Amino acid sequence: MISRSLQMDEKVIAGLKSQVRGEVITPGDDRYDGARKVYNAMIDKRPAAIIRCADVADVIVAVKTAGAEGLAVAIRGGGHSVPGFGTADDALVVDLGRMKGARVDPTSKTIRAEGGCTWGDFNHSTYAFGLATTGGIISTTGIAGLTLGGGIGHLTRGVGLSMDNLISADVVLADGSFVNASEMHNSDLFWALRGGGGNFGVVTSFQYRLHEVKDIVGGVMLFEVEDAPKVLRAYNKYIADAPRQLGAFFAWQIAPPLPFIPKERHGDTFCAIVMCWSGQPDQANKSFLPFREAAHVVAEFVGPMPYPALNSMFDGLVPPGLQHYWKAVFVRDLTDGAIEAHMKFGPKVPVVNSTIHIYPINGAAHDVGPEATAFGHRDAKFATVIAGMWPDPVQNEANIRWVKDYYAALLPHSERGGYINFAADDDANRVEANFGRNFDKLRKLKARYDPSNRFRINQNIKPAS
Ligand SMILES: Cc1cc2nc3c(=O)[nH]c(=O)nc-3n(C[C@H](O)[C@H](O)[C@H](O)COP(=O)(O)OP(=O)(O)OC[C@H]3O[C@@H](n4cnc5c(N)ncnc54)[C@H](O)[C@@H]3O)c2cc1C
Repeated sequence: MISRSLQMDEKVIAGLKSQVRGEVITPGDDRYDGARKVYNAMIDKRPAAIIRCADVADVIVAVKTAGAEGLAVAIRGGGHSVPGFGTADDALVVDLGRMKGARVDPTSKTIRAEGGCTWGDFNHSTYAFGLATTGGIISTTGIAGLTLGGGIGHLTRGVGLSMDNLISADVVLADGSFVNASEMHNSDLFWALRGGGGNFGVVTSFQYRLHEVKDIVGGVMLFEVEDAPKVLRAYNKYIADAPRQLGAFFAWQIAPPLPFIPKERHGDTFCAIVMCWSGQPDQANKSFLPFREAAHVVAEFVGPMPYPALNSMFDGLVPPGLQHYWKAVFVRDLTDGAIEAHMKFGPKVPVVNSTIHIYPINGAAHDVGPEATAFGHRDAKFATVIAGMWPDPVQNEANIRWVKDYYAALLPHSERGGYINFAADDDANRVEANFGRNFDKLRKLKARYDPSNRFRINQNIKPAS
């Protein structure tokens, strides 16, 4: 098949190159194959052009050109989207990866960070001031996609979802116009950005509220597989009302060859609790006690560390270039039926990179009303992700089957929707359920801000007619 990019008018490409300060990369360019790659190696798309934007002006040129040429825009922040929404066949990719400016204002405890920052970039900037906000648990994930979809991390229970800490956003809209969105200005757009994903425009920079978090006490505890029901029940009960300074999530994990795990147990499957205590250090052990008392701890790596160290602790397990297939559900309660389903499939986690996480949605995340932002599932208690990640495409069938079977087993014990940032590319039929109660309002706002659905390479909200 001849890609649309091969037909892109030479004059249009020349026009782009004359206006853009970053890079304009088209098929035939030596950089093209590198530039079209995203984090999930399963994605193999051939965009018409990739614009590595240097600044907001570049983004405006790119979006206007896409409009004039009738091309879809694929927005790339950190490139971590599992369905590969940071690229698409025949689309114009607006890649913000070069836009990594970040300015902390220690007086107002805020940061303005550009759309190409990863959480590693972000935490590096804020740690110097003893400040932080909720971000992803892997440092290479982009702040942009993660925040616009919600943003679940170690600090959610204390300070809310990442998007709950958003104060304002600079946005290039589908017609190429530039606006600032906040509670004061374009408040309907600001509402939609917080949970609506990349449907409404290219966010060139984000302003966040920061909190006094510098060094934390945290890490991981491993438990035997057969103790998982006890650990899950203890987690379910305790995390509902635990002190908000405690972040914790349940996981299944094959033991990597790390020094804190007995050598003879390397490669064995365990269940785990990952924890982050951001309160007074001398209270940390007390806050971890209910986990320790749930069952025998086989191995642990828990102690004081800089917050960015915990935020990058698991990076080695998920290098770029793995194959990814994920599924997600929201859960009201970890019932006996749900625990039974976890016990059937969790211990079968196929490779060391794959995992299942059960994140709490409570504490400060529940201080915000279910309709106050576009995030449609505030009333859930947990967001579960079955994250299939493996190195070899030969293993695709077996790994995808495991994710699908696990997901099917969880469905009867779950809400209809899942967290959009954990959803797969075959989840288009779940879009309404994933956006939940706010879907109709989102469709109306989509019709206002992006009536031709220029930004459709995402968990797509079709404009209301
Ligand atoms: C290894 C790994 C770990 C993860 N951990 C977490 C976690 O701890 N917590 C969590 O909540 N999620 C997590 N996620 C999911 C993550 O939130 C999504 O994959 C998210 O989309 C990644 O954002 P990105 O900018 O890196 O993605 P990209 O692939 O760059 O973008 C994804 C989509 O987001 C939108 N988008 C990106 N940038 C912009 C922008 N500047 N303006 C407008 N729209 C934009 C676009 O629709 C784009 O199509 C993780 C994902 C991976 C692969």
